Amino acid sequence: MSTIIDGKKIAQEIKDEVKTEVLKLNDQNLFPALAVIIVGDDAASKIYVRDKKRACENTGIKSVSYELPADTTENELLHLVSRLNADYKIHGILVQLPLPQHINEDNILLAIDPKKDVDCFHPYNVGLLSVGKPQFLPGTPAGVIQLLKRSGISIAGKNCVVVGRSNIVGKPMSALLLAENGTVTTCHSKTRNLGEVTKKAEILVVAIRMPKFITADMVGEGAVVIDVGIHKIAGTKNKLCGDVDFDGVYEKTSYITPVPGGVGPMTIAMLMQNCLKAAKL
Ligand code: NAP
Repeated sequence: MSTIIDGKKIAQEIKDEVKTEVLKLNDQNLFPALAVIIVGDDAASKIYVRDKKRACENTGIKSVSYELPADTTENELLHLVSRLNADYKIHGILVQLPLPQHINEDNILLAIDPKKDVDCFHPYNVGLLSVGKPQFLPGTPAGVIQLLKRSGISIAGKNCVVVGRSNIVGKPMSALLLAENGTVTTCHSKTRNLGEVTKKAEILVVAIRMPKFITADMVGEGAVVIDVGIHKIAGTKNKLCGDVDFDGVYEKTSYITPVPGGVGPMTIAMLMQNCLKAAKL
């Protein structure tokens, strides 16, 4: 029988650890603070920002939010980032993506001081990660590593397959599994015979933005399956599913993450860890 990995519980453990560390910093008169910038009215972004602010409250990290109108110019946003870079009381800066189309996301992400880049999107931090000397860890992939480690699943030497190669999830996921001495294969939309590759995985991480795409015939017996995808199920009010057909795949796995309650809560927990690290930096 498979074990369902409880991401909510593990995320709470991590947030509790962060809270303890934050209290220690407070005793030294250091008050970790995160600036969160959101531009426009995207409903999903507003929910993500609300959840991040809530996690800050739970861990004792101060959050300062900047809710800017959709017609904010790139220059105005760059000025705000520059002001926050210089503000010694702000340790982390997070710009919620996506930005409105008239703003070049790359320009904004490049403008954030790498020491305050708690999302780990700045090319400097991506570079440090790829040479194995990370300053910050990217939230979602680092959350996956914690789910594995805290569930007692070893990575070293295992055949790890990552499906998806986005800059936010797939690529850093492969880098982190490699750093943990996994034998890593990265798949994408041009991979031939995908099912044959995924079937050989001892650890399979899926991040492809395709609801229930990974089916039982694509999974090997006893595999650990980590589902990063999040989708609203069409025709339901609030029901969610992942990139993996959970019901079909469950019996074949040794461990599996559910959606919701798997990887999702981990991303924010890891963000809190990065804020703590930024304050220490
Ligand atoms: P993305 O930027 O859309 O990238 C999708 C990746 O999947 C691409 O690399 C693409 O390949 C690959 N792909 C698409 N169709 C494929 C197919 N048929 N076979 C093999 N590979 C295929 O997505 P993302 O930002 O990485 O996000 C992935 C999923 O994770 C989404 O559902 C997103 O909502 C979710 N997500 C969750 C969290 C969380 O906190 N839990 C955080 C971030 C994202 P190409 O490169 O060849 O196009």
